[in-house]
Amino acid sequence: MAVRIRPELAQTPGYTPAPVPPDAILLANNEVPGPPLPGVPEAVAAATGTLHRYPDATSTPLAAGLARHLGVAPDRVVVGAGSAGVCLRVLQALCEPGDEVAFGWRSFELYPLLARTVGAVPRPVPLSGDRLDLDALASATGRRTRVVLLCNPNNPTGTAVTGHELTRFLAAVPPHVLVVVDEAYREFATPGAVPDAVVSSGRHPRVAVLRTFSKAYGLAALRVGYGVLPVEVADAVRRVAPPFGVSTVAEAAASAALAAHPVMLARCRELAAERDRVRTALLAAGHRVPVSQANFLWLPLGERTSEFVAHCRDRGIVVRGYAGEGVRVTVGTASDNDAFLAAAT
Ligand SMILES: *Cc1c(COP(=O)(O)O)cnc(C)c1O
Repeated sequence: MAVRIRPELAQTPGYTPAPVPPDAILLANNEVPGPPLPGVPEAVAAATGTLHRYPDATSTPLAAGLARHLGVAPDRVVVGAGSAGVCLRVLQALCEPGDEVAFGWRSFELYPLLARTVGAVPRPVPLSGDRLDLDALASATGRRTRVVLLCNPNNPTGTAVTGHELTRFLAAVPPHVLVVVDEAYREFATPGAVPDAVVSSGRHPRVAVLRTFSKAYGLAALRVGYGVLPVEVADAVRRVAPPFGVSTVAEAAASAALAAHPVMLARCRELAAERDRVRTALLAAGHRVPVSQANFLWLPLGERTSEFVAHCRDRGIVVRGYAGEGVRVTVGTASDNDAFLAAAT
């Protein structure tokens, strides 16, 4: 007799990162080019003094700092191992087997995997062109829907839902559904172009927000993210994971990165300018590229996707391809972007 693996996991392909040859220019994972924000290396070094101690069980200092920074009650903030880790815990807290989790598609590739992991049924709702179709998403929510995952700006297309659209959507979704707005890339958006879902969550009792230190704050290696959640959801989410999920080192680095918020925002503005430069060059070369509010661009190449990914790889550049759909390219340093443009144009 063999041990029995849950059958729904057989349909779950698992997350496969892009292979990275040595010395390649890596534009596949939406990381920022670095270096670490000021204060972060020092905070990490200082944290090595207490490596023999367990961390603060629920990252209280960081959660309190975030609550102050965002102007929300501390009991609404849950810190976790990446925002993907927090997202999984939200689904664990809300979904029973057979419940549904709806999201636009294509969107963040972890959404269907996280839904299956908790025994829920993923409900992908096709985009309209390159944008989330909020009317279709609202119509797709039924009696079994527990959660809608709304990625804004959307990964991988870079397009954003406006404040007006979000407000309309929140009014259209039935009251038993938690709307989780994943704002992993909001810092890169043109000021005013992407609504602040933390503000919406203050007005609307069924809105949750996920944010991360992996992208704009440049801490992908350390795995820190957080949720701003309705109090009763936050309370449940704290109970579905073992304590000590965020290391002392990660907590210290994230607190230092948060203190460098103005530097982070200035870097994001520079990166956004670089993004717009790359987009303009791609448009001039005849590519179709939707306006992006994130730190990446989407090339809807359809059947030519795999060929384009291989073409870039042959020139030492790794981009993210979604076979038959398109290519997502992360905006890197000016010289890395120039290398990409030389390959793409
Ligand atoms: C990168 C990304 C995240 C962040 O994941 P972490 O677990 O915080 O590293 C979350 N959502 C989306 C849409 C992303 O692209």
